[in-house]
Amino acid sequence: MLEIYNSLTRFKETFKPLHEGHVGMYVCGPTVYGDAHLGHARPAITFDLLYRYLMYLGYKVRYVRNITDVGHLEHDADEGEDKIAKKARLEQLEPMEVVQFYTNRYHRDMSALNVLPPSIEPHASGHIIEQIAFVQKILDKGYAYVSNGSVYMDVEKYAKDYPYGKLSGRNLNDIVTETRELDGQDEKKHSYDFALWKKAAPEHIMHWPSPWSEGFPGWHMECSTMGTKYLGEKFDIHGGGLDLIFPHHEAEIAQSCAALGHESVHYWMHNNMITIAGKKMGKSYNNFITLEQFFSGNHPLLSKPFGPMVIRFFILQAHYRSTVDFSSEALEAAEKGLQRMQEAYARLLKLQAGKETTVEVAGLRQRCQEAMDDDLNSPFVIAALFDSARAINTVWDGKGTISEADLAELREIWKTFAIDILGLRLEEQGAGDDKMKAFNGAIDLLLGIRLQAKQNKDWQTSDKIRNELTALGFQVKDTKDGFEWSI
Ligand code: ZN
Repeated sequence: MLEIYNSLTRFKETFKPLHEGHVGMYVCGPTVYGDAHLGHARPAITFDLLYRYLMYLGYKVRYVRNITDVGHLEHDADEGEDKIAKKARLEQLEPMEVVQFYTNRYHRDMSALNVLPPSIEPHASGHIIEQIAFVQKILDKGYAYVSNGSVYMDVEKYAKDYPYGKLSGRNLNDIVTETRELDGQDEKKHSYDFALWKKAAPEHIMHWPSPWSEGFPGWHMECSTMGTKYLGEKFDIHGGGLDLIFPHHEAEIAQSCAALGHESVHYWMHNNMITIAGKKMGKSYNNFITLEQFFSGNHPLLSKPFGPMVIRFFILQAHYRSTVDFSSEALEAAEKGLQRMQEAYARLLKLQAGKETTVEVAGLRQRCQEAMDDDLNSPFVIAALFDSARAINTVWDGKGTISEADLAELREIWKTFAIDILGLRLEEQGAGDDKMKAFNGAIDLLLGIRLQAKQNKDWQTSDKIRNELTALGFQVKDTKDGFEWSI
């Protein structure tokens, strides 16, 4: 039986891959029936940080992040309508149109957050045959039963042979008292049995043939199936949000043990949740803010738009196992912090080397490395980089000097830890400034031509420039010395 880790303290010493030099990593991806929000950004960024760090350590990483496009019912248990089918019904679309639409938007948002795409992104609906075979294996081993065309995990029988609930620290009694009485209860032997395959009701639009019924796989089945298909019966790391530990990951462990006789996952890693003004995010609280709304500022809880790098920086400023409470003020503070980093990096690239180093830069690489090694402590990496930003500013202000070798090393450390590992796009600010400069220069040039035309009494040209700029949304004001403009 493999060990379960909830964190990788002293990463380099405690992490032992199953195959020398290679890491297999599976992360539960989104259910694509709506736009991505902060709750999606956190696991994506957390495991992007891990992915980038593993590659920095020299591992060849196969990173699998799935797309859930079938079987995720409205009430995480085995009841309610399929989330995607419901959206399709409401919008009169083919379910796969809903899936494609929100998958495209998810990719767009992840790319804006500078989250690297996974090596493989399998869809649950594309692996129905494999899921049926996995269910059959569990049936063959005697840990499941067929009832009215659906297949359920026989949790009581399973729990006699394997520890059920070890990841969440629950036992069967806890689970019994937690489980609500649900529809389809009469089909199950016990309330805690979960569906491996569900017979589709006549109105259910997404269904496939199987030996038991025309139906669809239970939600937990896809991750056991696709994880082992692409990473092997045993693989290194499985990640996801803390809210997935029960029932989803607990069910995955049970399915793998029942079918294969052993666990599949060597290390479990879970990121903590994001709260909004102290409250859990949820439709009932009316505090769902999508990433697109953050980027546009179009939400009553937001004071202004916040760029994707501000969101990324905000999330990385907290350790992945601690909670993060969102507020507009917290994001404004993160924005200021990010600007300070961007400014320091722009200065670092322009600094001139001196004869000797009089500022404090020694030990920086080791501090960053040790922080990452200590269970991906991104806030410590950021703190170390801020300390070095002070040294950069001291040299920039002419109050200190840095040698050529130290300057090269400092640039290399920032490139490695801030850009490659934290995944911050630090040059964007500078690039934006350059674009702004070019834009302002072009308008000044145009208004300069208009001024000359006026002096030459070429009213036709001067009026044309003014009118067309006004139509584009500019305000042009003539002054004593020339002109002023604004948008
Ligand atoms: Zn999953």
